[in-house]
Amino acid sequence: MKTSKILSFILFLISATLRGQERPPVIDMHMHIGAPLNLPAGAPAPCLPQPCIRRGKATASPDENLRKTLELMTRYNIVKGFLSDLDLTQLQQWAEAGQGRFMVSPFIVDPTKASVDQLREELKAKRLTGIGEIGSQLMGIAPNDPRLEPYFALAEEFDVPVLIHTEGIGPPLPSFRSVPGSPLLLEDVMVRHPKLRIFVENSGYPYLDEMIAMMYQYPQLYGDVSTITWIIPQSAFYDYLQRLIKAGLGKRIMFGSDQMRWPEMIGEGIDAINDADFLTPEQKRDILYHNATRFLRLDTKK
Ligand SMILES: [Zn+2]
Repeated sequence: MKTSKILSFILFLISATLRGQERPPVIDMHMHIGAPLNLPAGAPAPCLPQPCIRRGKATASPDENLRKTLELMTRYNIVKGFLSDLDLTQLQQWAEAGQGRFMVSPFIVDPTKASVDQLREELKAKRLTGIGEIGSQLMGIAPNDPRLEPYFALAEEFDVPVLIHTEGIGPPLPSFRSVPGSPLLLEDVMVRHPKLRIFVENSGYPYLDEMIAMMYQYPQLYGDVSTITWIIPQSAFYDYLQRLIKAGLGKRIMFGSDQMRWPEMIGEGIDAINDADFLTPEQKRDILYHNATRFLRLDTKK
């Protein structure tokens, strides 16, 4: 009996070590707590362009979303996740449950509704570690709109990363507009805030040339590949990513799942990067981990 217990313990140790070796660390730069809320449990995730086949099953509650998200994070060895939501209390609950894995950050849609003073207090207390996702494009607001200025100033003051939704695609809301999503409209922000550490959702998809221009000109600007790892046809995602890589931007692109209420998309997104045969093993590791450690300055911290 005793011997078999020792044996099973040794086997457990070996399998745990192998599991650790199988999956190198990943950083997920784009996570949310639970939006969109207006969908029933089990609803499939959106897809583009329509008509298309929707996949996945929306979780039924924030608790289920948290549990499944953490399960996926463990399975894929996600060591850090940039997590944003409107509800600051829920963000703290996730932060506690994640035991140090989540970097929590306020989702900002209506810039007149978020309180800059409150965010300053939260940043001071280190209960928040970023700004955004700034999703004001959902209201048709461009990044260079003066109403967003206090948030960029705050992020620069506290030297925290900023995620912004600036691209051609977004949720089908009546107030969403593609035009204010042009990455060129970031230029005013980059000029006004040269120390800002900012990254753009989906690397501005599909505004490729505009995004390349901004990234060449402003070395502090990074991009993620998040929703586009699963929401658009894989051929379109690969085409966009390959053109960013060919432009020499392989050190400035970071993985994000944008899992929302579909935690299974975490795995789909990581698999999409690992299955891309035009990427070298080093480029895959850069996108899944190393670029984010540099952007977040995790590599220089103890
Ligand atoms: Zn998002």
